[in-house]
Amino acid sequence: MQNLTDEQRAFVEAIRDFARRECGTREQRDALTDGGVEPHNPEVYAQIASLGWLGVAIPEAYGGSGGGAVDLCLLCEEFARGLIPMGFFPVTMMAARPVELFGSPVLQEEILGGIVAGRTGAIAMSEPEAGSDVGNLSCRAARSDGAFVINGQKTWITGAHVASQIVVVTRTTRGEDKHFGLTMISVPRGVDGLEIRGIGTMGGREVNDMYFTDCQVSADRVVGQVDHGWMQLMAGLNNERLIIAAQSLGMAQRAFDDALAYVKERRQFGRAIGSFQTIKHRLADLACELEATRELVYGVASTVDANPGKMFPREASMAKLKATELAKRTALEGMQMMGGYGYATEYDMERHVRATLVTTIYGGASEIQREIIARSLGL
Ligand SMILES: Cc1cc2nc3c(=O)[nH]c(=O)nc-3n(C[C@H](O)[C@H](O)[C@H](O)COP(=O)(O)OP(=O)(O)OC[C@H]3O[C@@H](n4cnc5c(N)ncnc54)[C@H](O)[C@@H]3O)c2cc1C
Repeated sequence: MQNLTDEQRAFVEAIRDFARRECGTREQRDALTDGGVEPHNPEVYAQIASLGWLGVAIPEAYGGSGGGAVDLCLLCEEFARGLIPMGFFPVTMMAARPVELFGSPVLQEEILGGIVAGRTGAIAMSEPEAGSDVGNLSCRAARSDGAFVINGQKTWITGAHVASQIVVVTRTTRGEDKHFGLTMISVPRGVDGLEIRGIGTMGGREVNDMYFTDCQVSADRVVGQVDHGWMQLMAGLNNERLIIAAQSLGMAQRAFDDALAYVKERRQFGRAIGSFQTIKHRLADLACELEATRELVYGVASTVDANPGKMFPREASMAKLKATELAKRTALEGMQMMGGYGYATEYDMERHVRATLVTTIYGGASEIQREIIARSLGL
């Protein structure tokens, strides 16, 4: 990336220093993540909050530094590259976006100010019968005396078990148009009538089922307008896709860095395996892909920053699709280049494979991103 300001370059350097110092060795990373099971470490997160980085893209009015999409992407890319265990930061920022755009001043103060102070959030859209077809969701919220009573289930909710609040997308009206009648409600985690249960995955302790049984939440916790949640979700899509793209880019870069270091060290047939043309060329191709993807991601982020309030569904989908597919491919190639050692839990590469596989599924699977891009081509 050529166009960063001095301040942005210094920010990147500071994150890299932090990563080297706090989680530069496998022993440190294992201690911070319970052997790779916990993607998010509260103590590390508190340290990062105290450095002021969590507020990088939060408005100054709430204690943040008021940066934009580029700044947020830099943090997401670098924490992923540095394997800093702050795995619930991306989803916290996704949940924050509708609050920033549409929330009441009281909710903004609580949630945006809370992020700067080190609290995490979550966003609950998906349900067992509403995955890619998220507009089909049915978790119901009914009005009752200044409150909403929520009944139903959400699934796959990242970080809900530690979030201070979860922005839940509920169904308040069922009509002909499934996209009308959705309402966002900020639900405090400990509220009565909400049970949160972990789901086992390849990625460790990350996602949850949420069961609502007559769960009562005050009406002043509605984010934005009742029944207009779909439009509010769409308004956050640039942000959501760029966050995942930048994080995936960092994962791809880390898998590349680790593979490169390994092939320079590992010797077979009397020479470093990195001197074999088949491996050299694969790394050269991946290096090109990484550069091209970085230009794409930051190009879209710069466009978003230059056009606040404008939607870039095609470009944001391209960035998400390209970066996530590259992350997955780089990790798999890295494993192949490392032979049996890539498969061994002693090395990080198998963790990179597990972490990257899901990036092409969540936040709108690759097939859905391709649908959006194809639609922009008139197909
Ligand atoms: C680790 C993880 C974290 C997640 N975090 C969150 C979260 O924090 N909050 C949240 O709300 N959700 C979250 N999700 C849910 C995630 O967004 C969904 O898993 C995703 O949208 C896909 O839905 P699904 O799993 O039901 O798959 P399905 O929608 O059933 O899709 C299955 C397959 O069919 C394909 N497919 C579906 N429809 C089409 C179509 N029209 N054209 C072509 N192919 C299609 C899909 O691409 C996919 O390959 C998370 C999921 C995971 C795995």
